[in-house]
Amino acid sequence: MIFDGHLSFNNIENASTDFGNRYHLTPFAVLHPKSISDISSIIKHIYDSNITSDLTIAARGHGHSVEGQSQAHQGVVISMESLRAPEMSFHTGLNPFVDVSAGELWINILHESLRHGLAPKSWTDYLHLTVGGTLSNAGISGQAFRHGPQINNVYQLQVVTGRGEVVTCSEEHNTDLFQAVLGGLGQFGIILQARIALEPAPKMVKWIRALYSDFSLFTNDQEKLISSTNSFDYVEGFVIINRTGLLNNWRSSFNPKDPVQAKQFISEGKTLFCLEVAKYFNPEESDNINQDIDTILSELNYIESTLFQSEVSYVDFLDRVHVSEKKLREKGLWDVPHPWINLLIPRRSIHEFSREVFGDILKDTSNGPVLIYPVNKSRWKNGTSLVTPDEDVFYLVAFLTSAIPSSTGKDGLKHILTQNEKILSFCERPHLGIKQYLPHYSNQEEWKAHFGNNWNIFARRKSTYDPLAILAPGQRIFKRANAFGLA
Ligand SMILES: Cc1cc2nc3c(=O)[nH]c(=O)nc-3n(C[C@H](O)[C@H](O)[C@H](O)COP(=O)(O)OP(=O)(O)OC[C@H]3O[C@@H](n4cnc5c(N)ncnc54)[C@H](O)[C@@H]3O)c2cc1C
Repeated sequence: MIFDGHLSFNNIENASTDFGNRYHLTPFAVLHPKSISDISSIIKHIYDSNITSDLTIAARGHGHSVEGQSQAHQGVVISMESLRAPEMSFHTGLNPFVDVSAGELWINILHESLRHGLAPKSWTDYLHLTVGGTLSNAGISGQAFRHGPQINNVYQLQVVTGRGEVVTCSEEHNTDLFQAVLGGLGQFGIILQARIALEPAPKMVKWIRALYSDFSLFTNDQEKLISSTNSFDYVEGFVIINRTGLLNNWRSSFNPKDPVQAKQFISEGKTLFCLEVAKYFNPEESDNINQDIDTILSELNYIESTLFQSEVSYVDFLDRVHVSEKKLREKGLWDVPHPWINLLIPRRSIHEFSREVFGDILKDTSNGPVLIYPVNKSRWKNGTSLVTPDEDVFYLVAFLTSAIPSSTGKDGLKHILTQNEKILSFCERPHLGIKQYLPHYSNQEEWKAHFGNNWNIFARRKSTYDPLAILAPGQRIFKRANAFGLA
């Protein structure tokens, strides 16, 4: 086969690892595509000719999965970031959008969009992820309560299926494939291009944090904020257990509303819940925005002495996790194992979850952030492959833990994995209705339970678009079949 790009059999270490740094599966080769036909040809070739082969193909975005999802043991990994063509193409007007290559990083889309005074509507907390990678999951952040996840904000996709066919799909054309691929864990096709919805970009952001010691007051306020029309543009939150000098640490980036009271606040020994919100604005609107914020805050029940504010540019706000990345890289703490858990928890179960997990299982949160925030299901589109709980309001709870490689203590991998097992085993209680986000299971029975009533649709779509189960083997959902359909 002749490629516009190249197939590499050496230097494949990068494709044998991911951000999780726990799974290391060596591929047979890595394709660095320069054209769409590089990708469709290799898939078609494997589909057409490999009657008895078990060769698989994994698209690799930025490799920021945590459990080997973008790896292919003895298969071919396609480095999507190599596919730079076509260049980003912007369409301004009433419903602006940008056409991008699926290997593009969201941070690059942000910078390019801002040149047109525009920006995507829905984000992830960290922008050094690819479009194809987040659209294969959902792409959830503090804007999702209003705009839905990133998979809601895509008008059109170009996809190459597991049969090697290049198909353009949208809500109107090839709808089934469009919905299958969104949140589809890479199972039905490789996304080549995406048309992403844009909106006018603000210039500045008021970024606010405040603490609660009462979980009910915290969740009531979060839920009030996501259901109100006069609210913030971003609503998230996180849990902090037994942290010394918490507010003092915030002072490097935030200003206390009441410095004297803030100084007297003691965080150690307590389990605290931090509301994190943001309001977007342009400099000329500053006074009005301050009044709006005061009105919204006056209806909330946080601990008054813990209100902190900051004013940053829109880019600095969206790219905030990159600042932490740089600091962690300097200390050699970025490329460590990341035994993460991400959960979607229905509103009815969030208090039981909090009592058990924050009250009992988790003794401290110093191994990494624990995010918790609600979203409105009514703002999320039906029909995609993403699985969400069966309630109108559900919470994203993310344990973004880092393990110190050589440690045998509380920050070591063994201890954290034991804690994770306890959390996951609690979450399996059927009445809780909890679903994993960025899911990971070891056998098909567990996947069936994850998809529930949607399993038949998922399996039917797999046999339609990737009948030999060539694609995304790292998800461990389907076993590679030969051309006779035998698993
Ligand atoms: C620091 C950090 C912060 C994060 N924050 C958030 C967050 O706020 N919200 C959130 O929702 N997620 C978040 N994530 C998770 C992230 O969205 C997923 O891990 C995502 O898969 C990473 O994208 P990637 O480009 O690295 O994909 P990869 O890890 O390379 O791939 C993920 C899966 O998608 C498949 N895939 C990749 N590209 C394509 C394509 N073009 N077509 C079809 N399938 C493809 C792969 O085969 C694999 O199965 C975060 C991850 C990290 C490391």
